[in-house]
Amino acid sequence: MTPVTTFSGKTLALFGLGGSGLVTALALKAGGARVIAWDDNSAKVAEAASKDIETGDLRELDWSTVSALVLSPGVPLTHPEPHWSATLATAAGVEIIGDIELFCRERAKIAPNAPFVAITGTNGKSTTTALVAHILREAGRDVQMGGNIGTAILSLEAPSDSRIHVIECSSFQIDLAPSLAPTIGVHLNLSPDHIDRHGTMEGYAAIKERLVAKAGLAVIGVDDPMSRAIARRCQENGLNVAFVSIEPIDGKGVFADGETLVGVNGPDAAPVADLSDIGSLRGAHNAQNAAAAVAVALALNVSPEQIRTGLRTFPGLPHRMEEVGRIGRTLFINDSKATNADSTEKALKSFDDILWILGGKAKEGGIEPLREYFPKIRKAYLIGAAAEDFARTLGRDVPHVSSGTLDRAVEEAARDAAAMDGSVVVLLSPACASYDQFANYEVRGDQFRELVRALPGLEARGA
Ligand code: ADP
Repeated sequence: MTPVTTFSGKTLALFGLGGSGLVTALALKAGGARVIAWDDNSAKVAEAASKDIETGDLRELDWSTVSALVLSPGVPLTHPEPHWSATLATAAGVEIIGDIELFCRERAKIAPNAPFVAITGTNGKSTTTALVAHILREAGRDVQMGGNIGTAILSLEAPSDSRIHVIECSSFQIDLAPSLAPTIGVHLNLSPDHIDRHGTMEGYAAIKERLVAKAGLAVIGVDDPMSRAIARRCQENGLNVAFVSIEPIDGKGVFADGETLVGVNGPDAAPVADLSDIGSLRGAHNAQNAAAAVAVALALNVSPEQIRTGLRTFPGLPHRMEEVGRIGRTLFINDSKATNADSTEKALKSFDDILWILGGKAKEGGIEPLREYFPKIRKAYLIGAAAEDFARTLGRDVPHVSSGTLDRAVEEAARDAAAMDGSVVVLLSPACASYDQFANYEVRGDQFRELVRALPGLEARGA
């Protein structure tokens, strides 16, 4: 844990007692602050109380005694409307911050030169965060990884000059971290997301920009117009910028020439690594993630040889085009995280000859945007509430069957694959939310993995 000593002797209000809220309250307490914590969910309040955290309804608080409100990133700060706790804090002139801000202030106090890599973007944050951490660990560095990827930042070891923090930041977390100034800030890409929580696309982009605006080195993906504009502004402001792209770049950075990552420094360009045959980094989207990770590693003086080892041994993250195993020439891929057409498109782009398992609770527009990939689909296996609707979209263009449930879909796809000529891919990439049949996408992906592993003759990945 990182005890937060910057509020020692002060009183703070804390709202939102999910995993990171509990850790934050304990870290503040360990650093000598008094924390009064609350949540709209009484079970969470009871859990906090059982961990010796002081709880109390913040509506009854004397806000003149409070130094800051610590808000969980899941709680609306501004849109669609401020949460009542934020309104109370603002009315009392109390600053509103999050756990990343507490970390930044602690770092500034105890180890201002501690290497701190912060990573954001609409898509690819977790993959890039995990990959950066993996490359650095393989190179023998002391790495702490956390933030939005799952481990609350304050539950990590405290910052020090010989330890690298690699932290995934959502836009909500950045919004609550005004003094965020990482050693290396990575912004991958921007596309419309969470606009309900940020008001407008411009508002959302402006928050993402704050992660790189004060970075020692800004690593910026420039493959979409709004991110390109961010990179341009950073350069105009005199920042040290490294560009990341799947097109050749000018200046400094890393770009993907097909599957080869090329490091560029002014007139010098040299291949650093090759992604072909790295099953955990298939597709152009992962080339962007890998190029960003390589730019970070190079900046931290990891040798190209060590970078190649890190890339080659990266296990990937579960549920994101995760290779489960093979039976003969059939490859089984778990892409359960693909809960919309945009995400599924990445998978359909990455494979040919696909036996596609899809369906669930459909998103607006369904799978119509994926029509251009239909020629790659040998057969589709429909599950969940969207089955009828998707069957209509597939029509006569794609052979399909209504499997209903995931276990039947896996069984049918495996049987068909065994009877087909050549290499095929059985791909679970549902383009749908999972809630009609599963608790969440993780449960759906876990079940797929288990079903596949139970198939006779499976060679599991890594086995
Ligand atoms: P995040 O943490 O930002 O949600 P993940 O690394 O968990 O991102 O990837 C989630 C999904 O986003 C992947 O399954 C893939 O479909 C898509 N994706 C990943 N990286 C990128 C990228 N660089 N550009 C566009 N889409 C991506």
